[in-house]
Amino acid sequence: MDRRDTKQREAILKFLKNTHTHPTVDQIYEEVRKEIPNISKGTVYRNLLVLSENGDVSELNLQGTFSRYEEKQDKHYHFRCEKCGRVFDVDEPIDKDLDERIARKTGFTVLHHQTEFRGLCKDCNIVKT
Ligand SMILES: [Zn+2]
Ligand SMILES: [Zn+2]
Repeated sequence: MDRRDTKQREAILKFLKNTHTHPTVDQIYEEVRKEIPNISKGTVYRNLLVLSENGDVSELNLQGTFSRYEEKQDKHYHFRCEKCGRVFDVDEPIDKDLDERIARKTGFTVLHHQTEFRGLCKDCNIVKT
């Protein structure tokens, strides 16, 4: 890994550490470009793959959207606003009992489940008069 790669990777990670918006590749690219103007979108994407493999960032695969990324944390739920499309962390532990219940019901081995809450965020919920 050469020095240029390290610098790019650090810039991406730094941005993800300082944001809680679960940005897409495009949004990460736009932001990192301010610091490293000659970076390409392909490079950003490649670095995100490496960072995911290293366990430094998590890739979120929400239904019907582009992949979004965040700094690696404990598994948590997400809420997506149907109006503005923003994704928020939900401070609620993952329900492990649900996995067991489904396993008992089906006889399948349940490794994990993915639940996404949807609705309107506080900003979008305001009735404009
Ligand atoms: Zn909203
Ligand atoms: Zn999150």
